Amino acid sequence: MIVAERKPIEKVLEMIAPYKKVLVAGCYGCVTVCLAGGEKEVGILASQIRLARSKDGNPIEVVEQTVERQCDAEYLAKFQDNVSSVEAVVSLACGIGIQYLAEKSPVPVFPGVNTLFLGANLDVGKWAERCFACGDCVLDKTGGICPIARCSKSLLNGPCGGSQYGKCEVSKDVDCGWQLIYDRLKALGQLDKLKEIIPAKNWKRDKGPRTLVREELTLERD
Ligand code: SF4
Ligand code: SF4
Repeated sequence: MIVAERKPIEKVLEMIAPYKKVLVAGCYGCVTVCLAGGEKEVGILASQIRLARSKDGNPIEVVEQTVERQCDAEYLAKFQDNVSSVEAVVSLACGIGIQYLAEKSPVPVFPGVNTLFLGANLDVGKWAERCFACGDCVLDKTGGICPIARCSKSLLNGPCGGSQYGKCEVSKDVDCGWQLIYDRLKALGQLDKLKEIIPAKNWKRDKGPRTLVREELTLERD
C-alpha cells in the first residue's frame, strides 16, 4: 500500500488560514488502511480545525467527505458539489489523490498528509518500505526481497563494504538488505542466482512521467 502520515495540525491551519469554509476530503483506499486519511481521520482533523479556529476567535465551516479512491476520476466526481461550495480543500489522500483532486478542483487543494513510501503493514502501527515502483521487478532474482527498497544504497549486485554482522552501515537497527537476500536465497537453495548480474536500472526521465495504457481495456470502453 501507499503509506502516509497526517501532517501536524499547525501546518494544516497555516495552509487554510485565509479561508472561512473548507472541505476535508478523505479516501477509503491506502490512507484508510494506514490510518492517515480515511473517514475517521477526516472527522478528527475537521474537529481539530473547528476547535483551533474557534479558540482563535476566527471560526471556520468545515465540510467532511470521504470517497472510495481519490486517484480515480469516477470517485472524484462525487466531490463536485462540496468542492464547488467551499473556498479550499484539505485532502487526506496520498500525493496522487491530492494532485488528481487538485486537477479537477476550481479551488485550491492542500495536502493534509505526507506521503512516505510503498510499504507493508508489519504490525499494529508499524509500516516498512518494500518497493520503489522501479518498473522492472527483479524479485525473482533476489529471493523475493527488493534490493532497491531494502538496501540503503539500492545496490543491485551484492552488498557494499559497510555490511557488518547482518546490519547496514547506516544503523545497527537496520538489516543489511543484501544479507537478507543472501540468507533467503541460501534457505531456498538458490545461491547460484547471485552469479547473475542484474543490469543497472534506467532511472532516466527522458520520456517524462510514466504512463500505462492497456489497449484491450480502452477498446472495451469504446
Ligand atoms: S524490484 Fe523492487 S522496486 Fe522494483 S518493482 Fe520489484 S519490489 Fe518494486
Ligand atoms: S550495508 Fe547492506 S543495506 Fe546497507 S548500504 Fe551496504 S549493502 Fe546496502
